[in-house]
Amino acid sequence: MSDPSILIAGAGPTGLAAALFLKRLGITARIVDRSPEPAAHSRALVVNPRSLDMLKASGVTDRMLAEGRPVSGLTFYDNWKRIAAFDTSAIHPRYQLTVLSQERSEALLTDVLGILGVHPERGVSVSVKGQADTVRVTLEHGNGTREEATFDGLFGADGAHSTTRENLAIPFPGTSFPEIWPLFDIELETSLAPDRAHVAFFPKGLMFMIALDKHVWRIVSNLSDPLDHLPPGAHPGKTIWSSSFHIAHRVASVCSLGRVALGGDAAHIHSPLGARGMNLGIEDAYAFALRMADSSRDVPARFARYGAERHPVHVNVVRRVQMLTTMARGDSRATRLLRRYGIALIGELAPIRHLMIGTAAGLDHPKPAP
Ligand SMILES: Cc1cc2nc3c(=O)[nH]c(=O)nc-3n(C[C@H](O)[C@H](O)[C@H](O)COP(=O)(O)OP(=O)(O)OC[C@H]3O[C@@H](n4cnc5c(N)ncnc54)[C@H](O)[C@@H]3O)c2cc1C
Repeated sequence: MSDPSILIAGAGPTGLAAALFLKRLGITARIVDRSPEPAAHSRALVVNPRSLDMLKASGVTDRMLAEGRPVSGLTFYDNWKRIAAFDTSAIHPRYQLTVLSQERSEALLTDVLGILGVHPERGVSVSVKGQADTVRVTLEHGNGTREEATFDGLFGADGAHSTTRENLAIPFPGTSFPEIWPLFDIELETSLAPDRAHVAFFPKGLMFMIALDKHVWRIVSNLSDPLDHLPPGAHPGKTIWSSSFHIAHRVASVCSLGRVALGGDAAHIHSPLGARGMNLGIEDAYAFALRMADSSRDVPARFARYGAERHPVHVNVVRRVQMLTTMARGDSRATRLLRRYGIALIGELAPIRHLMIGTAAGLDHPKPAP
């Protein structure tokens, strides 16, 4: 059977990774993105060992490691009093959790794709018109022209508000937390170890801190005034970027339908505390490419297999991250006690510690295989 013609909707990390993995398996996909420019600010900061492992053969991993910084562990505090610490430096035989801005991860994926002759088309918006023997789409170009096109298959990597998902009327059930989470990338002088991530609990919420480079820290919190809860002796400087977001946990009810598949945030969204969104999207891309290159099946069967394999993975990862976030954010007395003593205890129990770290590392289920 010949290789299918594939359209990828969205050139975020999931779409770019899909184009790259497909190309390396001999399939040249067309990839388009509605936005005229790549995103200027970074959401994801941590690339996990699973992603580094999958991207190794393409050369992207070496570039990520050359630019990124390893994270050696995670320290927990109760009102900045240290209660537990995990070492993460040996979570994988070759790779560590690596801090690299999403903006740079996307740029490196784009560079390597370009070397292979695949160039994302920007300012092109996809909508799905129907599917039977082929997928019919309309591509609206930034200059106002409309292109009607058909493909053997479509990978919807078009983010949390996925047009692909909406056009196919695929439900996206789940729940969201009511509070707003402020985010700051801020210059900071602090004695906190810059090679570790830090989570501090307070009666009203939590604060997550990780160094982006020598001087700039990312602060994410559900406190209304996180900068009033900085560690003792910390001196804040210029705010480089500030934003805020809501946390929701949702999984698309199916992640393939006929000749269309969903990957990344189009298929699942969850709290950033697990550092999994982008990484799980890259894994979706890897799995999608493997299935599309499976010439022993017809095209709808390749899509069906992708959906059957990935949906349970999405459900399990989102459930686990939701559970950890619920425990971390709650301010009930029971949750506070569990946090205070549970985390300290977990720090002493190697198998449980391993499970928690495995979740952050993306090693909580097997890597997709051919
Ligand atoms: C504060 C914060 C911190 C985070 N930290 C981490 C972390 O450390 N590690 C991690 O793994 N994840 C993290 N995440 C999650 C991560 O940012 C997302 O999961 C990731 O961006 C999803 O990638 P994606 O390619 O699936 O979707 P997106 O990045 O949203 O990309 C979708 C693309 O599709 C395009 N598009 C939309 N509609 C259309 C259309 N109709 N036609 C064509 N193109 C379209 C958009 O322009 C966009 O470029 C974090 C998120 C937040 C908010």
